[in-house]
This record gives sequence, C-alpha cells and structure tokens, in this order.
Amino acid sequence: MNTARRKFFRDLTTASLATGALSHWPRLSLMAAEQPSGLIRLDRNENPYGPDQEAIAAIGKSARLVNRYSASERQALRKTIAKLHGVDAQQIILASGSSDIFRSAVRLARDTKGKLIVASPTFDVASREARRAGLPIEAVPLTREYSHDLEKMLSLAHGSSGLVYICNPNNPTGSLTPRNHLEAFLNELPPTFTGLIDEAYHHYVPDTPAYVSFIDRPVSNKNVIVTRTFSKICGLAGERIGYAVSSPHIAGNLPAEELESSVSVSSVVAARAILEDDQFIRRCYRLNDDDRQEFLNQINARHGHAVDPHANFVFMHAGRPAREVVDYFETKGILIGPPFPEMNTHVRVSLGLADEMKAFWSVWDSLIPAGMMHT
Ligand code: PLP
Repeated sequence: MNTARRKFFRDLTTASLATGALSHWPRLSLMAAEQPSGLIRLDRNENPYGPDQEAIAAIGKSARLVNRYSASERQALRKTIAKLHGVDAQQIILASGSSDIFRSAVRLARDTKGKLIVASPTFDVASREARRAGLPIEAVPLTREYSHDLEKMLSLAHGSSGLVYICNPNNPTGSLTPRNHLEAFLNELPPTFTGLIDEAYHHYVPDTPAYVSFIDRPVSNKNVIVTRTFSKICGLAGERIGYAVSSPHIAGNLPAEELESSVSVSSVVAARAILEDDQFIRRCYRLNDDDRQEFLNQINARHGHAVDPHANFVFMHAGRPAREVVDYFETKGILIGPPFPEMNTHVRVSLGLADEMKAFWSVWDSLIPAGMMHT
C-alpha cells in the first residue's frame, strides 16, 4: 500500500477514535488498522478488535519465563480448559494451533490405511495434509442449504476406515449443519472412523437450537475429536494455540507429546488470560454480531446475496469470477479470502473494523455496480 493510502486509513481510524465511536471498548487494543504491511486484512477471519489487554499483559510478563520449557504452564492451562468444559484434563491436548491437530489426525488415519471424508468447499488443512500423506480423499459437495451432506458422507464411510472432518460453522460458507443431523450422523458413524468436529467459530454462532457444541453436549460415540482455537474470537492467531477435547481413548492415540511440545509459553499464558476474562469473548461476540448485521444491510442495499453467515466472515455472491475480485481488491490494498473453485463466483470477506468495511464497500462499488452482484 502506498504512503498516501496508508495515511488515509490511519486518519479514518484516528477520526473514529476521536469521535468516540469505539470508546465503549476500552480493553481492546485497537491495533488492527495499523498493521505493519499497511494492508487491510479481511482474508483470514481473525478478530479485528485485537487481543484482550489482559492477554497482552500476560504475554509481556511471560518474557521472564522463556528460559524454561512450557510444561507447567501447559498443565495449568489444560486444567483450566478441563474445568471450563467439565471434562478430565487427560481429555485435553494442546497444540500450536488447531491445524496441527487436524494434521495429526490425518496422519493417524493414514497409518491405518484409511481415507479422509470432507465437505466441499470447506477449510482445507486436513485435505492438504491428506494429499501430502497420500491418503485418499472423498470430497462431498455441500447440500443446497450449504450444510454437510451427511447421508452421502455416511454412505462413503460404510465398509472402510479413516477420518471424517466436519467444520461447523463451515469455512468458507459460514453455514451451519443442524445439530440433530450431526448427532444422528455421529451415532451411526462406523467404529472404524474418527469424527473430527472443528468448532473454530463456535463463539460467533448466534443463539439457535440448530447449533450446540459437541464439547458442551457430547454424543456417546467415543471416536470423536472436537477442536477449538484461540485464533478467532480470542484474538491470538499469531500466538498459535488451539486444543482438542476427546475421549481418553482417542487422546491416547494422538501424539500428545509431539503436539504440545511446540506450544510456546507466551501462547499458553495469553490463552489462560482470555479464559479468565469472562467479559472479553462476550463483548467480541456482540461487536461481531453488529458488524455482521451491518454487512448484511450493505449487501441488501445493493440487492446482493450471501450465504446466511454464522461466524465472523461472509460468503457473498460477486456475480463474476472470484479471482478477478480478489485481485482487484489487492490492487487497492485490501486482502479478502482466496477463491474457492467449487463456488467460484463467491468471495469470502472477513469482518473488519468499521473504517475497514467502509473502505471495502467503496472498492466494491467501484468494481461492481449495485444490482450486478448476482448476474
Ligand atoms: N479451523 C477453521 C475452520 C479455520 O477457518 C481456521 C483458520 O482460518 C482454523 C481452524 C485454524 O486454526 P488455528 O489457527 O488454530 O490453526
């Protein structure tokens, strides 16, 4: 981004702070618009409001601990998480990002000569690992309602073994697969399969009976791993920390030592600080809820269309190849999600700060005239 454009965005942010538009939010660091690259980053579904001040303070203090390995801090975090979820600490495995857990689960399936069953499109870390590991992949298109086609996935699981990855809410679509359908699916999944439920966007889901976490209300199938990350609403994407909750049996099969040994002490103390601040997640949820509604209002004003969103991003119809849109935005200093070949006229836009979204719509309107989003 050139200096003039960077100054323009900085001035916008300063102006909104000066007018008090964000003054109800004293604990957020509000650093997002000052990214070193100068780019507006609406591409990776991060929390634009920055990390909690308590987490920043904890990271600062952790500098004094870096001559030591993180074992005792990890143990404390595992206990905190176990208490939060009402499970045994041995059911929790920490990792340097939940993506590492997906990779390990894929490699386990490879070792038992299994296959990977995934939706299409969905978050692709598991599929990428499967390709690397030489594991067969069954990619099942989402239904017309953009939920997982569980009937088809189940039919592919019968008579074989491996891993089925379910992302709920799904990335990139932001759509939900109803709880009762998933529950029936997991109860019928053959014992030769592990079900991996990715709840990365759990905290963003609006209150609805269609969604209940599989950590909060587990199913009887013991071959289920549920993952959470601190990279999204917790605002710690750069710290790299996530975790798995599973039965002791599955936890025993995962390479816990290998996964946990790469977890840094600063990420652990930051994660604990977030969990101990019960206001932070709630406030970020409310801010995102408003931001999401405002984004939908903007789409409606342009007679556009988006998949009903349940997270901190929106998958919207652009009426032209996503590649064109992504590239155009990049020339204007705004990053949006990559093209998804399965739905190649949709783009994924992460919700950012108000000024960032203003800039987004201004660029959008310069590319796509109102009423042209669904042609
Ligand atoms: N799961 C989903 C659905 C995601 O969209 C992402 C990141 O975008 C992740 C997991 C990555 O999480 P982590 O940063 O913990 O590896």
